[in-house]
Amino acid sequence: GGAAVGSSSSSEPPKVIPKGVVLGKDGKPCRTCNSGADFAAWTSQAKSSLKAPARKASSISKDCPPDVAALGQSSWTLLHSIAATYPTTPTTTEQSDIKSFMKLFSKLYPCWVCAEDFQHYIQKKEVRAGSRDEFGNWLCEAHNEVNKKLGKATFDCSKWEERWRTGWKD
Ligand code: FAD
Repeated sequence: GGAAVGSSSSSEPPKVIPKGVVLGKDGKPCRTCNSGADFAAWTSQAKSSLKAPARKASSISKDCPPDVAALGQSSWTLLHSIAATYPTTPTTTEQSDIKSFMKLFSKLYPCWVCAEDFQHYIQKKEVRAGSRDEFGNWLCEAHNEVNKKLGKATFDCSKWEERWRTGWKD
């Protein structure tokens, strides 16, 4: 692949960014917006041009800050678990709370490219929160939208509760 060249300043690492690496709003590669491998490729390249020893992608360990996939898996676990414990007959307050939460979640999500797409999705397909079943299915469809965007298989939403609440039927 090619490389996009960012602006340069004497005190910062060289900004020859490998193609496909997503930058943060600060103009630097964003760890939570990229795979660990892409991020490591950038840091090792930046460090080697500063004549410092590079870390291999394989040295990424479990107690490092999350990349886009680790953040995603943890976030979906939290969101589907919220759906699993959402009331079957929510009060008006509970319904408005979950809608506010999803709206804020989509604003605060730490991968800004993911966040922008998710905000658009919520504008297009308003959060349905009339019951656990409704919210669980809405969330499953939202997750499938991301699956499709990433070229992953979609999930059968009739199974969301088995996956996230009851466990698989034998
Ligand atoms: P994940 O997609 O993380 O799913 C975890 C588990 O959930 C799966 O193993 C499966 O058992 C179950 N599951 C899968 N689909 C569904 C479903 N529809 N309903 C219920 N359960 C399901 N990554 C990007 O690279 N670009 C993005 O723009 C992006 N946007 C994101 C937006 C949001 C709001 C979130 C939370 C994450 C986003 N991600 C994005 C991360 C991405 O969705 C995945 O989390 C990441 O690619 C890791 O995928 P995975 O295959 O491990 O499984």
